[in-house]
Amino acid sequence: MHVYHAGGVIHTPVQNDFEIYENAYICVEEDGRVNGIYSVLPKSMMHFPVTDFGDQILIPAFTDGHIHSAQLPNAGLGYDMPFSKWLGELTYPSERRYREKEVYAAVNRQLIMDFWKYGIMHGAIMSSTDYGATENLFEQYLDSGMCALIGKMNSDLPAYGAAAESTEASIRETELLISKYANKNPCVNYALSPEFVPTCSDALMEFLGDAARKHQLPVITHAAEGTEDVEMVRKRFPQLQTYGNVLKHFGLFGGHPAAAVHYNMAEPEELLDMAELGVIYVQCPNSGMDMGTEKLMIMRKAMNYGVPCALGSDIAGGHTCNMFRVMVSAMQLSRITALYEPFESLKTAEVFYMATKGGGKLFGKTGSFETGYFFDALVLDDGMISPFKAESLRERFERILYAADPACITLRFCKGKRIRAPKNRYTKN
Ligand SMILES: [Zn+2]
Repeated sequence: MHVYHAGGVIHTPVQNDFEIYENAYICVEEDGRVNGIYSVLPKSMMHFPVTDFGDQILIPAFTDGHIHSAQLPNAGLGYDMPFSKWLGELTYPSERRYREKEVYAAVNRQLIMDFWKYGIMHGAIMSSTDYGATENLFEQYLDSGMCALIGKMNSDLPAYGAAAESTEASIRETELLISKYANKNPCVNYALSPEFVPTCSDALMEFLGDAARKHQLPVITHAAEGTEDVEMVRKRFPQLQTYGNVLKHFGLFGGHPAAAVHYNMAEPEELLDMAELGVIYVQCPNSGMDMGTEKLMIMRKAMNYGVPCALGSDIAGGHTCNMFRVMVSAMQLSRITALYEPFESLKTAEVFYMATKGGGKLFGKTGSFETGYFFDALVLDDGMISPFKAESLRERFERILYAADPACITLRFCKGKRIRAPKNRYTKN
């Protein structure tokens, strides 16, 4: 048993409120799972040595529910361009460069370093359509001690540009990656990653639906970002009409973990389906605002339908994977939209839940300190943020959420093990 003491332990077992412990102990079993949080250490635990974090605050580590590894070099670039120019001048060239070994090895390394820096112990990563880049990301991740869902992007039809790959190559390479990496490691698994319905042929979606069912693999896809792609889907599938119906038809929603990213144009029936099937809705607030997306999903609306919600960075649609910034953007976006939409803005606890337990649902028992959850944790020192003393732990944490930078994270744990800074160069030993 490992016993930790902290000035504060904060988590969100339920979506709408913090559970806060002052001067508490958290006990972690040898297998990395939380035994319990205690204000007074039980007698049965007293003989274990205590690791004391002093006045620092312990929180669950973050989950980034959606990021494009190939796009990392473009984070922060071109957000004053029209969308088509941004795709043509930044996104597509970046994906082409990501096919070169030296480039993808360095970019993947940087992603792991960034996730470590920002306390993201779980990340759902959509790679490019390139086999080698995706394989390299798996290999690097397997040595990191951190957890990820990684998928080669599937995209065999043209939508805004030329088709990125052939149907045959897409299926063959995905099968190969599944056989190498699916369900083989407790931390790193394969996620089927169709780019979005308009760029996936029927044959490809059939294959992916079969693979999801056969291997019980998660599916992560973009959906209904704006009127243009919604119209493409409606025209191509006149009987099915919506993304939700198409994804259900091909077995990509339901029966296995699934997440839909953006889904700004979701119809009420689609939200009802997501709630019923447990499909996680991943909002990427920075991406929506950086891209000037025409209509952003109101998170409260999705929540009111009972849809499980998470947050993502969507680099390079979004400019950063700093989850503190992503949470603040979600808060700000909801405050602004609440001015002209009949929905209540989000609570701090709700965005924190989405960045921890909400996104963690894609992975299993992570994002909370409830008994049986993995001890995936960050130790935070807020001493450097403000000279003004906050009245309560809750206030200290609210300030951390808004003003923290990565330097406030002093320690990181994943599945009960301390994760040290990755070296900036990957060498397979
Ligand atoms: Zn995306």
